[in-house]
Amino acid sequence: VQTCPICNSNIRFRKYLSDKGCTWYKCPSCKGAVMLPYLHESKRISGQELYFEYHNDQQFIERRKKFSVNQTNFLRMFYKENMIIIEIGPGLGFPILNFIKIFPNKSQDIFLMESEEFFQNHLKKQFTNTRVNIISSEANPGSIKKILKNNNNKPALIYMDNVLEHLEYPYIFLHELNSILPAGSILLIDVPNENLLRFRTWLYKKLGSDGTTAAAHINLFTKASLKMMAKKNGLKIKVWQRGIRNIEDVNCLPTNNYTSILLNFLKIFPIDKFFGFANNLRAAIYF
Ligand SMILES: [Zn+2]
Repeated sequence: VQTCPICNSNIRFRKYLSDKGCTWYKCPSCKGAVMLPYLHESKRISGQELYFEYHNDQQFIERRKKFSVNQTNFLRMFYKENMIIIEIGPGLGFPILNFIKIFPNKSQDIFLMESEEFFQNHLKKQFTNTRVNIISSEANPGSIKKILKNNNNKPALIYMDNVLEHLEYPYIFLHELNSILPAGSILLIDVPNENLLRFRTWLYKKLGSDGTTAAAHINLFTKASLKMMAKKNGLKIKVWQRGIRNIEDVNCLPTNNYTSILLNFLKIFPIDKFFGFANNLRAAIYF
């Protein structure tokens, strides 16, 4: 019997998926999946350089830039004038770069918490001549508490785009956020959809590619697991499925095997959403 890091249930896990020397177990309670034993990313991914090469690829950076408009729009849906914005793990920083073009007076209220030196340097260049704050930190509630204290405890809009699946204990992280965030704060998350993962791992192997991101992901979320994680913390949550629908989305995938025919088909017949295996899950958690 083990405690699920997503839903906090004490439950007997069953073996689910193996990839790149890592094994994930399914939680029968929330249907999420958990890497056991947990190994820190640096011990799992052979060659940090591989990771950086991928992100340093100029073409990839250009593709992310195009796609980031979608992410900025997601932020704008929830942003209110009285909020500060904290993005955890912003990486290349494009969604916020778009945001301050629209709200240039808000840049001093934006905090980018980045732990990787490579991205920190990239961000410093991107945000020269702006008042955006770049903070060297992991996803750490203590650092968030400091930011809140220095900003009159204003409500925060926290954004974690493909970050939560890299945390060891998302349930505890949410619990800690709940104890420090002022009322009216909102956490926006985007995570890979676990329902798609097993199929994707199978497909990549068939294609002779090891483009699956599975080994970097500790916890794998389903719609039900996100809901349970929030509700057991006493928090209100809304979850959406985000399907791949346009070429900007496709270009941001590790492999580009979708065709425009499939994209147009999905626009008319959204079977991915119907069967619950859309590419990503997006959620808003209300404090
Ligand atoms: Zn669980």
